[in-house]
Amino acid sequence: MSSNPPDPLGPDDLRRLARPAPPGTSCTGCAALVCPGWESLPGSFDTAQLQRLGSLRVQADEEPPLREYHPAGSHGWSADAPIAPGWFPYNRCEVWGCRGCGRAFLRYTEYGGYYVDERIRELRAELVVDVAPPA
Ligand SMILES: [Zn+2]
Repeated sequence: MSSNPPDPLGPDDLRRLARPAPPGTSCTGCAALVCPGWESLPGSFDTAQLQRLGSLRVQADEEPPLREYHPAGSHGWSADAPIAPGWFPYNRCEVWGCRGCGRAFLRYTEYGGYYVDERIRELRAELVVDVAPPA
């Protein structure tokens, strides 16, 4: 552990940050990003539309675990996959908010063998779960 680890955001923080725009409204700033499951960040998107709100990253010497949390049979790309702090990929996410409407998004960067993919998912309070991180 580093000597001064910032506290990663917990489930309660995430629920506080999740502020979806009222149904039926659309925001030109982030309309291209609104997606219930993970998607690649469109290359044309101007990330200046977003401001950083916090981080879920656990400060540790080791890479965070790669295990995913899917008790109900969802998978990584599911629209209803739980948002489980401490589990992949949430343990390497940052939370960003739209400057226009305040809607919050999760972002992380997937490093493949030959590619780097920035991924984004809308932060929805009803999907945030309180579970212990993988051992
Ligand atoms: Zn917006």
